[in-house]
Amino acid sequence: MHTLRRHPRQWSVVAWLFVTGVTTIVGLFTYLVLQGPINKSASSQILIGNDISREFDIQYPVLHVPEVDTFVKTFASQQTESFLAKIKDRSYDSGNKLIIHYSIPHHGEKLLSIVFSVTEEIVGSPPTTVQYRQVFDVASGKKLTLSDLFRDDIDPRSVLADIFYDYFSQQPGILPREQLGLLDFTFAAVEDLIVYEDSLLLFFNPHSLGAKQDSQSVLLQKPVVASLLKNAYSGKDTGRKLDTPPENVAYAINDLPQRHIPNANGGKRIALTFDDGPSPHTKRLLDILGRYRSRGTFYVLGHLAQPYAGDLQRMVQGGHEIGNHTWMHANLTQITSAEFDWQVAGTQHAIQQATGGYTPRTIRPPYGATNGSVTGRAAQLGLKEVLWNVDTNDWQARDGQLIYDRIMGGAADGRVILLHDIYGSSVDGAIRAVPELLAQGYQLVTVSELYGY
Ligand code: ZN
Repeated sequence: MHTLRRHPRQWSVVAWLFVTGVTTIVGLFTYLVLQGPINKSASSQILIGNDISREFDIQYPVLHVPEVDTFVKTFASQQTESFLAKIKDRSYDSGNKLIIHYSIPHHGEKLLSIVFSVTEEIVGSPPTTVQYRQVFDVASGKKLTLSDLFRDDIDPRSVLADIFYDYFSQQPGILPREQLGLLDFTFAAVEDLIVYEDSLLLFFNPHSLGAKQDSQSVLLQKPVVASLLKNAYSGKDTGRKLDTPPENVAYAINDLPQRHIPNANGGKRIALTFDDGPSPHTKRLLDILGRYRSRGTFYVLGHLAQPYAGDLQRMVQGGHEIGNHTWMHANLTQITSAEFDWQVAGTQHAIQQATGGYTPRTIRPPYGATNGSVTGRAAQLGLKEVLWNVDTNDWQARDGQLIYDRIMGGAADGRVILLHDIYGSSVDGAIRAVPELLAQGYQLVTVSELYGY
């Protein structure tokens, strides 16, 4: 369970309690039995300190599922302790306040969702409100994440990549369009969720969006993904309907979106990319790609362009893409603008010289290290940044079989696979993978073809 900042829900059903002023009772636990909306009892636990002026308004439900009730109590205690720690040095101020409210958006036969809204008002700081969401399996009381709802043999990316791509495509301004294809969405991209009778409300992890983003949410109708969900969770989860359906949902998925990489032929496409070369192994790669009429993308180092001019010319003749990987593998986020120019513009020039005029259109920043300034400078030189979806970690593996397995394991329509043609083992793995990918119906294309650059 993680946190997201949102506005508190006004869900005033339970009684609330103020403890204000100076008191000297330590460790007093008071339980109030309150009438909840579900004809169940709810309790308030109150911790009262000894020398500070503060106010509590804490509500939490008792659901008679032991694991859930334990979780709820622990949660309330932890929040209270954390609040007390924060106001420890402000013991002479008055007006500190902790408010914990909860709602139960769904309590079905199978699944239960609880949302806590925790507001802290601490004198001298702006008030904060954080929402905490947790889904439980009703029968076992087990806490669930999104992946627990899906069948174990499902590749989450096959579900999420398309949904998220579609969502962000229709919400311009959240993410630059060119970043969309670079994101590799797994279940980890969803920070937490709320389940409803017939839908799932997913909250994206802002960090998974590759930038400082606000939280984003989409409502996924269960029937859209019913075949991908575990049997126990795939149907309509009827039961006690406790709350109104989700409000203010920016985007609801009522149908699975189109594949995120448009392909006129309708087939699957994949881009094998090779960094840090060329090397003496590159020729074998060009041989196999040529034999199978397939294309790859080579992110070459500028200082190798002239020594391997023959290979670069073969790449151009074979319809492959040559990309810029800087002159000497520089971390572009840590260099001056003057150095950027010779690392990147110098490499463009060297590739043009070696090939008789070919100009790279994409750059892969070494280490994947980039920021807004790097992206902007590259754009000024006419270069689009390209990262990858699948990292084979071939530089560590150095094992052709393992690298082959990782290529095949990571293969999916629209993927960009990262390899390094400076290692014989990487080239061995790729040579085995090329015919196998074709047999599985993939077309091997360049990055620019894949992204439509
Ligand atoms: Zn590299």
